[in-house]
Amino acid sequence: MILSLKAIQEETEVSEVLERDWWPAAESDQILGIDVPLHVRIKVAKVDDKFLLEGKVTGGVLLRCDRCLDSFHWDLASRFHLSLLSPKPGNEPMEVELLDDDMEVEFVQGEAIDLDRMIMGQIYLSLPMKSLCKEGCLGLCPACGVNLNVKRCECAPQNINPAFEKLKNLKP
Ligand SMILES: [Zn+2]
Ligand SMILES: [Zn+2]
Repeated sequence: MILSLKAIQEETEVSEVLERDWWPAAESDQILGIDVPLHVRIKVAKVDDKFLLEGKVTGGVLLRCDRCLDSFHWDLASRFHLSLLSPKPGNEPMEVELLDDDMEVEFVQGEAIDLDRMIMGQIYLSLPMKSLCKEGCLGLCPACGVNLNVKRCECAPQNINPAFEKLKNLKP
């Protein structure tokens, strides 16, 4: 969805529900998709030469566990505030400047905002540092690849130092 800033006189509010098919397949390795439809509410206010955006995204996403690579549900609740500096009249090309340095600007297109891109960016920003399906996830066996949360395997303990492993192989 594209939100044109030109049309905004004082304040506008966008609210929408993003269903599972909103998330592009194969968009990322970390986020596998939408688990519970996302409720999005974004308020945009024009104050002098700035646009102030206040938004909220809630719902659930499917993440991939860093250890066992299984997918798991993660509750998403993200709030964000952004300020955009509107273009000065007579300046060509018209461009919206972002006040926050650390924000990515890819969702600003001329005098419009690509809301989908912006929401996706916010979802990425709100993700946990480490995606784990549960605390103490056992991960995959490095030898046979079995998911150790689900199954046990007969592989030797995996704490063998690779240097010793080499020595062992040298023996006749
Ligand atoms: Zn896991
Ligand atoms: Zn194994």
